[in-house]
Amino acid sequence: MIVLKTTKDIDYWIGEVKKNGGSIGLVPTMGALHAGHLALIGKSRELCTHTVTSIFVNPTQFNNPEDFEKYPVTLERDIFELEKSGADVLFLPSLETVYPSGIRPSKHYDLGNLETKLEGKFRPGHFQGVCQVVEKFLNIVKPDCLFLGQKDYQQCLVLKKLISMLSYPVKAVLCPTFREPDGLAMSSRNLRLNNSQRHLAAEVYKSLQYIRTNFNYLPSSILKSNVRLELEKKGFRVDYVDIADLKNLDTIPDGQSKINTIALIAVFIDDIRLIDNILLTGEKGNEIDISASL
Ligand code: AMP
Repeated sequence: MIVLKTTKDIDYWIGEVKKNGGSIGLVPTMGALHAGHLALIGKSRELCTHTVTSIFVNPTQFNNPEDFEKYPVTLERDIFELEKSGADVLFLPSLETVYPSGIRPSKHYDLGNLETKLEGKFRPGHFQGVCQVVEKFLNIVKPDCLFLGQKDYQQCLVLKKLISMLSYPVKAVLCPTFREPDGLAMSSRNLRLNNSQRHLAAEVYKSLQYIRTNFNYLPSSILKSNVRLELEKKGFRVDYVDIADLKNLDTIPDGQSKINTIALIAVFIDDIRLIDNILLTGEKGNEIDISASL
């Protein structure tokens, strides 16, 4: 694996790959890599001849400066894992490489309702920062495929919208959420949990499973308030518990057909924020082909 840090270096490498008829898969990350990230790399290697993984902790997507400062950085270990993963390039740009004219946004992305609900509501400005950095990365790396994790499902919908707004010739590929044995969704922020917080964190997935088990029998509003109360009782601060339409994340009101839905949760344990989601069922009770929703 080679490490490239500048636009000039990666431009040269892309030129060589494309000259030889290759295709490029991009796995954008903020580092502190775990098996979920590595699975995205595995998928990229399956679908593309070459894989670029980027590590860049993007300041513009943090609505909370303390969260940015405390974001885990484990670069040496990441490089070790990437070497084993079969990724061809680690793109490790500086702040100046990504934002040569500074981090102030030069435009506003019209994300419609996606910006005012769930993550958009609780993290104002977050998705503008995500779009800002992903547009930069698409222009620098020029990937054929972009690999994204279902754990950040709303982000996947936002990026799908970005790609269509930019008419960018890239295919977004959605990959399932990787979990710890007790169900906790893998996340770089899990590194910040102490033992008792780590134990408690597994309750988030249990709550999602409770919703999935009961959603055919109880109204959404009851399921959501049961879960919220239970999580609060256990010591979580709850940003949201929602059951929403897979296509646009509109809340499913009681009594409305619950096909193609997703349950989503965001909570804090102290100052550590965790998000997760679970697919409910598709039409006729089938499992949903999540890749079809992008
Ligand atoms: P991050 O480094 O957290 O910005 O995540 C980089 C990419 O990895 C995003 O597309 C995430 O959705 C994805 N990702 C993060 N956690 C997981 C997970 N547990 N399973 C699968 N993909 C994940």
